[in-house]
Amino acid sequence: MNNPAKQREENPTACFGVHTRDWERMDTNLTVFCQPDERKSCGACCGLYNYADSSLSAITARLRLRTLRFRQLVKVPGDIECYAKATFSAEDFTPRYAVIYCCEFLGFLDEAGKKVGCLLHPTQNSGLDLRAGSFYGQEICAGHICPSHHFIPVNQAQIMIKIINDWYLYGLCLTDIDLVTNYFRLLADRIGEELKPDFFDNLLLKGVAREFFKWKINWPFRSEEINRLGKYYFDGSQLMIGYIDYEKLGISISPLDKIFMSFSSTFHNAEEVAKAEGLVWANVQSFVSAYQRFFE
Ligand code: SF4
Ligand code: SF4
Repeated sequence: MNNPAKQREENPTACFGVHTRDWERMDTNLTVFCQPDERKSCGACCGLYNYADSSLSAITARLRLRTLRFRQLVKVPGDIECYAKATFSAEDFTPRYAVIYCCEFLGFLDEAGKKVGCLLHPTQNSGLDLRAGSFYGQEICAGHICPSHHFIPVNQAQIMIKIINDWYLYGLCLTDIDLVTNYFRLLADRIGEELKPDFFDNLLLKGVAREFFKWKINWPFRSEEINRLGKYYFDGSQLMIGYIDYEKLGISISPLDKIFMSFSSTFHNAEEVAKAEGLVWANVQSFVSAYQRFFE
């Protein structure tokens, strides 16, 4: 079982998984996706979705209590140890993947609970940066840029920022590079031009794309037995990819395979694959029809 207190003690500088970056210290031209606006943010690399129960309700309750606890207990920098101990005692830290650290300092940055983020960040502590006391340490926490920044084109990230306005879905989808790039490639191929963020000011187009990404949570072919929110699973020693065995189903690999893996699909027969393909193609067709109506 994951024991964050022990992990911190044994590997104070170890880098097990991924981290978060300092969204305010901009010393490159890179567009940073972590805290895009006042309506949402991402906390995926701080272990946000790595709890055995990573449902929206469970994580929301966890972050609310942490934020309250932090505000009550942390008055000076030395108090963060006391906060950490109280949090380890109060919460179940059983992880999905033992190799990814679930950081106890992830909470809500705003009263409304719209933005997840680091409770140790200077903006939360009257300018004091307390991240040196975290598992990864200040430098890693402030400097990390996740792969989405390199593999999702900026126009596609801008579209994601336009169409998704809640932290839970935003972080889940933005960190799924295959899902974002493959879906937008399907749309661009069908309309015959590169997607522009402005297209998504149109409510119909925005709604169709949002429906697609909501499948990341409520995809009908996602097995309840699979405790993951993407294509990876942990086999006890390393992260593995959950491939779909089309040969066993007697069919060839679906052209939507990467999307299906991102939705953690489990198919029992060829008919289910056909139905799943039908859902995605119908969504793509809805987008194309709306695009033709408004932009051609
Ligand atoms: S966008 Fe990437 S770097 Fe930023 S918080 Fe999310 S996972 Fe971390
Ligand atoms: S200390 Fe802050 S930035 Fe670092 S992993 Fe924890 S929540 Fe994320």
